[in-house]
Amino acid sequence: MKCPKCNVDLVPEVRHGVDMNLCPSCKGMWMDAQELDQLENEAFDLGEDAKGTLVFDAAPTTQKCPVCAATLQRFNYHAYALEMAFCPNQHGYWLDADADARVLELMKDEERGYERSVRAEYQWSRTMQRMRSGSFLTKLKDLFR
Ligand SMILES: [Zn+2]
Ligand SMILES: [Zn+2]
Repeated sequence: MKCPKCNVDLVPEVRHGVDMNLCPSCKGMWMDAQELDQLENEAFDLGEDAKGTLVFDAAPTTQKCPVCAATLQRFNYHAYALEMAFCPNQHGYWLDADADARVLELMKDEERGYERSVRAEYQWSRTMQRMRSGSFLTKLKDLFR
């Protein structure tokens, strides 16, 4: 496989425990959907629903898929300001140098946000339970007995 940018051979490499193909020249990365998924799961393991829609506002690039030579489409990863490209025939994703580190950062932010909302929901339901149980009122009445 050739780098879509530099046309040099991609070198298989394991980063963050994920198999991918690295360009030795521009340090860009090619990974298939499963590998990108693995990378996301390195930081974020809440299932597909929590991860949301991957591709927003795709636009054609001048680069070609290293597998089928179809024109790669640029998109903003999960609507963040992180651009990637993907093969329209689903061969994989092209990440620029260090984009993998950004993916991990973004996923960690998502996870923190998700934990926050879960905690907030949990506290809210506990508050509601306490209100419904009437124990607070009972205690108040006890005070005046
Ligand atoms: Zn390259
Ligand atoms: Zn392709």
